[in-house]
Parts: sequence; structure tokens; C-alpha cells
Amino acid sequence: MTPLASTTHSLLDRLDVPQGAFTGGSMASFSPVTGEQIAALTPTTAEEASAMIDRAHRAFREWRVWPAPRRGELVRLLGEELRKSKEDLGRLVSIEAGKSPSEGLGEVQEMIDICDFAVGLSRQLYGLTIASERPGHRMMETWHPLGVVGVISAFNFPVAVWSWNSALALVCGNPVVWKPSEKTPLTALACQAILDRAIARMGDVPEGLSQVLIGGKEVGEILVDHPKVALVSATGSTRMGREVGPRVAARFGRSILELGGNNAGIVCPSADLDMALRAVAFGAMGTAGQRCTTMRRLFVHESVYDEFLPRLKAAYASVSIGNPLESQALVGPLIDAQAYEGMQRALEAAKAAGGMVQGGERVSVGPDSAFYVRPALVEMPSQSGPVLEETFAPILYVMKYSDFDAVIEDHNAVGAGLSSAIFTLNLREMEAFLSAAGSDCGIANVNIGTSGAEIGGAFGGEKETGGGRESGSDAWKAYMRRATNTINYSDALPLAQGVVFDV
Ligand code: NAD
Repeated sequence: MTPLASTTHSLLDRLDVPQGAFTGGSMASFSPVTGEQIAALTPTTAEEASAMIDRAHRAFREWRVWPAPRRGELVRLLGEELRKSKEDLGRLVSIEAGKSPSEGLGEVQEMIDICDFAVGLSRQLYGLTIASERPGHRMMETWHPLGVVGVISAFNFPVAVWSWNSALALVCGNPVVWKPSEKTPLTALACQAILDRAIARMGDVPEGLSQVLIGGKEVGEILVDHPKVALVSATGSTRMGREVGPRVAARFGRSILELGGNNAGIVCPSADLDMALRAVAFGAMGTAGQRCTTMRRLFVHESVYDEFLPRLKAAYASVSIGNPLESQALVGPLIDAQAYEGMQRALEAAKAAGGMVQGGERVSVGPDSAFYVRPALVEMPSQSGPVLEETFAPILYVMKYSDFDAVIEDHNAVGAGLSSAIFTLNLREMEAFLSAAGSDCGIANVNIGTSGAEIGGAFGGEKETGGGRESGSDAWKAYMRRATNTINYSDALPLAQGVVFDV
């Protein structure tokens, strides 16, 4: 066994994942840090997956009648267990997804934060009281648990996305069946083991409340098509969402789609350029460009272009690239060879469309099976070709603009609508960007980059990003069903809208 595989196994042991779950199976799992195999898992068969969904459905019938604050107690214990395992789980995220230590730990912190949020929420699943038009009547809304929640997740936030969904789903009264990315199954086993510890402390939790399915898209499809899965929360590429959305809708299931982004920043004439530089650098190069909220397009006003660009180029030329387990490098590996090839294809297409490319070349860090690159900065004459698409790698396309209204049009002229940012000290520009005629994204920021959202807000985007919302604000409502109740406490039966029907 290689040293990295052995470190991974020790971490999994410490996290209480049974040995049999990650050894001896037919599905190899790799670390992008070195490209080497670190585990061998056993994929879930279709029959097993179906049986697990049935088990989750049985758990639902019990869990839905638990008082919500008691359900919240389980999530409180999950938050405690996550605090205890923060270092180990953060390290495993770095091994499996290639994130820097700080980003690995940051992802686990986000899980802890959403648990805290959900515990409070468990006492706040409020409905409205509504004025009735009829005398002696009262109307109200009640929120009820929905059913089994199927979670399908992407490789790049291997644990946070599960926690956003699970913490809310559990307090809302729903069991969860999770199909993590086939590129990051080990962190999923670790999360399940951590939740199992909380479940053991809680005692009488129904069996099958949280389960993990191992495998690729064919296993995800079982969740998509199963009539007992009330809600499919799917995070991944727009391509995946195009397949999943219509299939869930065809059986009248609900879905939350969290898909690709093509996020942009606008640097205005009045921008604080020091701040913009740092925000753009983190937004575009952080996590090696593998965040859904990564900044991929940048519009810089012509009056500051010549001052800003050389500084940005210098940041790109000097950013540290290295093994996230052995260095404090800011940029780690791409997830795999396919991601590297996709990046090279996009850069070739950008050149063909008149782009001037700096960076983008492969950097040798360790074995040949690992794919490290220098982030690429591409000056484009206009927004065309690969600029219109998400390439899941660190490429930032920079374009010059002169007119504010025109740049807002360009900003919105792509398929995705996830995150956006403006750098300005001009009140009119700021408000226009945030207005109904401004950014068309689910996230619109001022003097902050496009990435690094907090859990308190609803997270998600419009258009080809899928329209789903997760995490804070009132995102919980997607995990519950709403009933409108009318109560007649009078001794008459007046009909609504004055209708008369005397029998
Ligand atoms: P991907 O689409 O390749 O895979 C995501 C998940 O979907 C995996 O678990 C995969 O097995 C599953 N899947 C794929 N096709 C499926 C199908 N037909 N039926 C059921 N399941 C299916 O994405 P990826 O490469 O893992 O992740 C990167 C993508 O995810 C990027 O596009 C990124 O922007 C997006 N992303 C979006 C968000 C968000 O919140 N909007 C967050 C993280 C990542």
C-alpha cells in the first residue's frame, strides 16, 4: 500500500468507517493529489439501492411525527461530532478532492455552521395565519415533512453539499439517501460514520434515516426515478441537470437543481483596486478554479484596465502551486486528467477566438498521474466561444468595457446564472447592479468576489444553474409540503366568494 493510501485508511479508521467499506471492492478511488489509487469500494447494486430507499421510506413514517425540536437535537449532536472530527474530515477532503488544508477545514466548518442554523430552525418552521373573508373562520398554513430526500452531489464540495441538504432535511422530518460523486465516495462514508455516532448517542432514531449509495450516474438514476423519493436535490453540471430535471418532473417529483456557473466580476472606474485584485485572485484561482462559484469572466473598465491588468498578471505568475498535503500552496491539483484536457481544449478555443493566454500550462508536482496547472488568464477581444461556457478549471477570461449598461447586458448574456460581483464605490452603479435590471444571478455581491458564500443566505442560481436554493434563509421550505387549513368555528356555513348552494 502506498503511503497516501495508508494515511487515508488510518483516517477512515479513526472516523469509524468499517474497513470492508473501502477495501476489496471493484470501484477504485483515487486522490488527485498524486493520482494514485487510495481505496477500492463496492458499488451499491440496483436491488440494494431500492431496498435502501424502501427502508428510508419506512423511517419517514416514524420520523415525520417526531417533534421538530427533537429532530433538531439529532442535528445538534451531528454538529458536535463534526467539531470533534473537523481535523480528520478536513484532511480527508484535502486527500480526496485536492483542496488546500484551509479549504478542507473550511468546508467542514460550513457543515458545522449549517448544523447550528438547522438546530435553531427546528423551532422555527413557521406557517402564516391568514385573514379569512368569512365570519367565524380562521385560515393558516402548516408545514409538514415531505418524504425521502435523495441527494446527488458533485466532487468539488464533497461534504458541505450533503450537510446543507441533510441538516435541513432532517429537522424538516425527512430521511436522506445520498449518492455522492464517484470521484469522492470516501468522504461520504466518513460523513455517514460521523452521523451514525450522533444517531447512536440519540438512541431511538428510526433505522434507515440516513444512507449512502456508492456508484456512478447509474446509481444516481435510481434515486431520480424512484417513486418513493419525494425530492431529488442534485448538485453538479448543467449537463447532469438537463437529464435529471425532466425525469424527476415526469413523475411529478420535486427537485432542487444546483448546477454549473459562469460567474463574472465587473471592475468599475471607482473600484478599490487593491481589494478587487485580492477578491478576483481568490475567486478565480482558489480551489484551482473548481468551485461552482469560481470567477470565470472579468469585465474591467477601460479607464483602469492598464493599471489593473499588470497587477493581476503578476498575481497569476506568482501564485503558489503545490501538493496540498505537504505545502501551504494556494493552488492544488485538478481532479483528474479529463479536467486537464477540458482546460487545454478551452484554451485552444480561446486562442482561436483571438484570446491572449498567460499560464494554463501543466506544472510538475509529484507523479505524472497528478494534474497540476498554472491558472490561466486570457485577455479576450469579446465575449465569444469558450467564454460563454463553464470550463471547470482555473481560466479567467478578461474583457475591457466602456459602457455600464452594455456591460450589464454582456454580464447576463450567458446560460448560467449563479454568482456575480461588482467592484465599485459608486452608489448608482452598485444599486443598478443589484436592481431588477442588473445582475440576473442568484448571488449578486458588491466589493466581494463571486465565491465563498455564507450558509445564512439561500444558495443557488437562475437559468441553466437550475433555479434551486439550499442552505439558509427560507430554503427549508423546499424540504416540506405546505397545507392551507381553514377552520370554521361559527355555527353557519358561509361559502367563499359569496356562492349560494342551499340544499
Ligand atoms: P457531474 O455533473 O459530472 O456529477 C455530479 C453528480 O451527478 C455525480 O454524483 C454524478 O454521478 C451524478 N450524475 C451525473 N449524471 C447523472 C444522471 N443522469 N442521473 C443521476 N445522477 C447523475 O459534476 P461534477 O464534475 O462532479 O461537478 C462539477 C459541476 O458541478 C460543475 O458544473 C459545478 O459548477 C457544479 N456544481 C454546482 C454547485 C451549485 O451549488 N450550483 C455546487 C458544486 C458544483
